[in-house]
Amino acid sequence: MTEFGPGLYPPQPLVERDRVRILLVDDEERIRDAVMELIARPGREILTCGNGNDALRVLATQHVDLALLDIRLPDMTGLDIMERMRGSGLSVRVIVVSADDQVDSAISALRYGAYEYVRKPFEPAALRRTVDNALEQLRLQRENVGIRSRLEQSERLHRYLIDQSPDLIYTLDQGGRFTFVNERFNRLLGFTREELIGHHYSAIVHRDDVKRAEFAFNERRTGQRASSNVEMRVRRRGGDGTPCTIVLSAVGLYAPERRQTEEADDAEKPSEQRTGFIGTYGVGRDISDRKRAEELVSYHAYYDVLTGLPNRTLFRDRLRQAIAQARRHRTRLAVMFIDLDRFKLINDTYGHVRGDLFLQQVAGRLRRQLRNSDTLCRLGGDEFTVLVPDLRSPDDAAQKAQQFLDALRRPFVVENDELSATASIGLSVFPDHGANEDELIRNADLAMYQVKRRGKDNVGVFEKEMSSLYSEKINLEGELRRALQRQELQVHYQPIHEVSKGVVECVEALVRWNHPKLGQLDPARFVYIAEETGLISALSDRVLDCACAQLGRWREDGFAGVHVAVNVSPRDFERTDFTERVAQALARHRVPADGLELEITENVLIEDVDAAIDKIRQLRKQGVRISIDDFGTRYSSLGYLQRLPVNTIKIDQVFTRELDEGDTHSPIVHAIIGIARGLGLHLVAEGVERPVHRDALRRLGCHSMQGFLFSPALAPEEATGYLRRMRAAPLA
Ligand code: C2E
Ligand code: MG
Ligand code: MG
Repeated sequence: MTEFGPGLYPPQPLVERDRVRILLVDDEERIRDAVMELIARPGREILTCGNGNDALRVLATQHVDLALLDIRLPDMTGLDIMERMRGSGLSVRVIVVSADDQVDSAISALRYGAYEYVRKPFEPAALRRTVDNALEQLRLQRENVGIRSRLEQSERLHRYLIDQSPDLIYTLDQGGRFTFVNERFNRLLGFTREELIGHHYSAIVHRDDVKRAEFAFNERRTGQRASSNVEMRVRRRGGDGTPCTIVLSAVGLYAPERRQTEEADDAEKPSEQRTGFIGTYGVGRDISDRKRAEELVSYHAYYDVLTGLPNRTLFRDRLRQAIAQARRHRTRLAVMFIDLDRFKLINDTYGHVRGDLFLQQVAGRLRRQLRNSDTLCRLGGDEFTVLVPDLRSPDDAAQKAQQFLDALRRPFVVENDELSATASIGLSVFPDHGANEDELIRNADLAMYQVKRRGKDNVGVFEKEMSSLYSEKINLEGELRRALQRQELQVHYQPIHEVSKGVVECVEALVRWNHPKLGQLDPARFVYIAEETGLISALSDRVLDCACAQLGRWREDGFAGVHVAVNVSPRDFERTDFTERVAQALARHRVPADGLELEITENVLIEDVDAAIDKIRQLRKQGVRISIDDFGTRYSSLGYLQRLPVNTIKIDQVFTRELDEGDTHSPIVHAIIGIARGLGLHLVAEGVERPVHRDALRRLGCHSMQGFLFSPALAPEEATGYLRRMRAAPLA
């Protein structure tokens, strides 16, 4: 409902009219003229008639406020006119003007409801007074009606606004029983007013949230100290259907009139102990949609959608915890790396759809072999990992791995085709084969790789000799250190387009390493090494410096609207001097802070949320913009997001890929777009490779895009050329 209820709009004028219309009926023209002269005033319109029929005609067609009726008229009496007026429901004030011999009829005219009578020949002052009085009374009466109807209207308006409110609004008495609920209770939860008034609030609270609800619903405090935004679930009528999640804010209500002594006594006390408490007033906001979006996003962050198994992130979390426990209790744990043999063949022969069904069945069989404390995860593709805590001996793990192989040996039936599978499993054990989750996973992977090389379908345990790959990392580490000193790292720039305007709004700085032997290396090969070894801060300083210098050059070249985005590692964020280093880089190249955007990932929030939020605030205060990179793939909590003063969310490539068929139904993309809108954040989609992605995103209302469809990351000179071309001819 968007219209006002009937009669509410447009509002009535306060006093209908300041003008009044007077009808003067007398058969003698002389008298008419005399009276007219007597009572004429600005704002009074005076109509005159010499007989009854004319008078009736006027009354039938025009609104008249006051009539001065002569009793005796040529065609009828003044009384007849009054009777006819009454018959047609006209309420006109009447002053009867009568000669002495008509006193009786004048008196019956009063009985008929005439306001007053004036005897002829009249005394001018008396007639004038009578008319003035009649009109004054009329004015007061009108004003009264006006006030009353305004009051009614304002009450109706308030009630209307309260009923139309998207929030649940209610009051409770001292006993916690509803005394008022707005319409929203009915529309959202299905309860009518009658069903709730007089009932205790607990009737609508979800049973698991009763404790929390008690706190908010029994609120006696007022002002700042009253409870606000307490999250809880409330039932829908009939108890079925998913409960609705609301945030509730409530305040205590106090009687307005209290004796002065009471007031004085109370002034010292906190409000909850004051007298005159009459109940509570509360407002509940439905946040079910936000809740669903939040759950969806965090589900995607932790679970694999195809199999419903935990994903890499959740697995690493659990593994980290299990390692901490094993350390404390001096126990062992095992990590298994499972890779199906020849899965690619199955996928290529039977197609992706059946490939996926097959993977689901494999996951199901593996899952049935688990103990409660084990965690099975799908890393992606046909790779699974298992965490087995509390090992009695390393052999235990090998035995369990054997069980997995056996479980897979029975054939699978996928849409009438019989498929068979074997797997290669590698094992590593804490603390023997690694001290942290990265080492354990990598070593289990190496062990699996050996099994593959030695003929597949078997189990292998990690051995130290397997770690020749490990040596690559050690080598790279040394080389990276040197490369940083010799400034062999370069920064490339990838444009981010605002497609509705066709212009480049931002350019992301991406680091590249020109390795003398291995050629150009992508960050995936070396950034993690930098992070593990602490070289990252030198790397970040270098990238930040290059990016600010480049931004300065572009600004000089007149690319005033372009921003540069720089990726920030969680390790950078931990440094206490991080914000200073950013400020210094900006100052060194004399570029404005708002030309720089820092891309952080949600991971920066894992360690110390408050410190991270604090840093983000400082950066924002400097003027630097902040975006959240790879949104939805990491640890996600909208609760934090609301507290973070960030500007932008970047949708990760994996979600853009969900739009592959030009399909705009991806629930996760919808959820992310909804979140960005809800929080008023700018949104950028990454990994836009195909026109279908661009078009689907446009349809969903996301207009800022980055991806190979527009351009890969370019060396600085090329990037400048690109900006020039786009300035000369923006994308159509
Ligand atoms: P990111 O920040 O999400 O950067 C986007 C990555 O996606 C870049 O990979 C880019 O080349 C790639 N990309 C862009 N468009 C497309 C597309 O349409 N399709 C596909 N498949 N990929 C696309 P790159 O340069 O390899 O960087 C990978 C990641 O390494 C970055 O992801 C970022 O997290 C990190 N990184 C890059 N430079 C730095 C840096 O200077 N410092 C830090 N700490 N991390 C960096
Ligand atoms: Mg990035
Ligand atoms: Mg990204």
